[in-house]
Amino acid sequence: MGPPFKYSTEEERIRARKTNQNKYTMKNWECQICNCIIRLGNKTNHLNSLKHRNKVFGADAEPWSCSDCDIEIQLHNKSNLVKSAGHIRNATNDDN
Ligand SMILES: [Zn+2]
Ligand SMILES: [Zn+2]
Repeated sequence: MGPPFKYSTEEERIRARKTNQNKYTMKNWECQICNCIIRLGNKTNHLNSLKHRNKVFGADAEPWSCSDCDIEIQLHNKSNLVKSAGHIRNATNDDN
């Protein structure tokens, strides 16, 4: 480990940081779920995309939202959820 590199001016330091940021966003990122390579700068967009969300929920799985628990789950998990203590508590509170 050598001594840390010192930038001579503030401007130079800022420019170096911007270059690093560009390098970061231009880096490739692999989505293990979709099995695709995207730019790291697009990661947030990708995670919010319908394509990616469909993969998370499963290709055939339909999302189902429980208004009592205020969550979105896979439709095929619905029967488990409605039997769960947490849901029953939420549902009972709403009924009263
Ligand atoms: Zn993805
Ligand atoms: Zn629920």
